[in-house]
Amino acid sequence: MKTPGSKCTQAVHAGSFKDEATWGINTPIFTSTSYQYLENKEIIYPRYFNIKNMDIIGEIIAVLENAGAGMFFGSGMAAITTSLFTFLSKGDHVVFQKGLYGGTHHFIQSDLQRLGIEFTIAKENDISTLEACIRKNTRVLYIETPSNPLLGITDISEVAKLAGSHGLLTMIDNTFASPINQNPHDLGMDLVLHSATKYIGGHHDLCAGAVTGSSEHIEQIRQKALNFGGSLNPLDCYLLERSMKTLAVRVQKQNENASAVARFLQAHPAVSKVWYPGLPGHPGHDIAKKQMRGFGGMLSFDPAKKSQHELLSKLKLIQPALSLGGVESIVCAPGETSHRLLSPEERAAIGITGNTLRLSMGIESSEDIMEDLDRALV
Ligand SMILES: *Cc1c(COP(=O)(O)O)cnc(C)c1O
Repeated sequence: MKTPGSKCTQAVHAGSFKDEATWGINTPIFTSTSYQYLENKEIIYPRYFNIKNMDIIGEIIAVLENAGAGMFFGSGMAAITTSLFTFLSKGDHVVFQKGLYGGTHHFIQSDLQRLGIEFTIAKENDISTLEACIRKNTRVLYIETPSNPLLGITDISEVAKLAGSHGLLTMIDNTFASPINQNPHDLGMDLVLHSATKYIGGHHDLCAGAVTGSSEHIEQIRQKALNFGGSLNPLDCYLLERSMKTLAVRVQKQNENASAVARFLQAHPAVSKVWYPGLPGHPGHDIAKKQMRGFGGMLSFDPAKKSQHELLSKLKLIQPALSLGGVESIVCAPGETSHRLLSPEERAAIGITGNTLRLSMGIESSEDIMEDLDRALV
């Protein structure tokens, strides 16, 4: 596994802006929604995704993902839906992997067919199953790895090869890994999507999304995005720029905490099952080792002696809360939160049982986190 070391430097220095008005080190927040057009060669407007604060964070995420270009949106779902609608038209077909983020699953179930876009959700994520889903009118192959909530791992370079041989555009939701642990463009993926609400923002205080790709693809997406209108305000752009400076150190600490806690839970008599790609027994461990620099800060487990709610009510440090990726450790029951819009049958099909809990590791001391869990488990 390579170290994420160089990402630490990129995270701090990419996209730096020279403030020639004051020579301050940080980027000013450009709040204008009206720009003089005689002075500018370009027509600037927030919903055109071209104000300065947007350009800078787009450049930073592109550097972190080893991409030609990148852009941010007002949410992860805005990034996902706008990117899909840029490349899909009525009559097209798209293949999705099994085990998508609940919101993405709900979107494709409720809105694609209605607009005349066909889709198949694969029954498994091995290459021959994915290949069998491809039709004559398939345009896009969409994956998400590690997946939510059971940390399933899909082989990114094999998917890219498969898509290449069928002329398909590839998209990956890279939210759980973050650009620190995984760079899917290096493995052949065309578009990389993020809910920046999670690790990239990292403080549970803003909602945003991002996509990276070639300059041509990102310009195509921008042309559609200005119609759909999911842009981000300059204050949140600034917070994201500030957040990304610490992304590498936060994620490295979250990787360490998750590894320690996963091993602790696996050895715990009051835990029946643990899902973490860093554990040698995890079904995706070998592929994860090949394509990730770190195994991430997310893990799931089944308590053996306590019901979900009994356990949640006994935790003192780890808060039962929605979302993930921030500096505070939080825990949730996916069936009641991220995957509540799925039917019980759909949840069972992706392996979410009644008692599974999903942990998002923060940057606290791992000893304190383990002590909190230990007290609640028994
Ligand atoms: C949260 C999340 C999304 C959606 O992002 P929002 O910022 O909530 O719109 C998409 N994919 C994954 C994996 C997520 O965790």
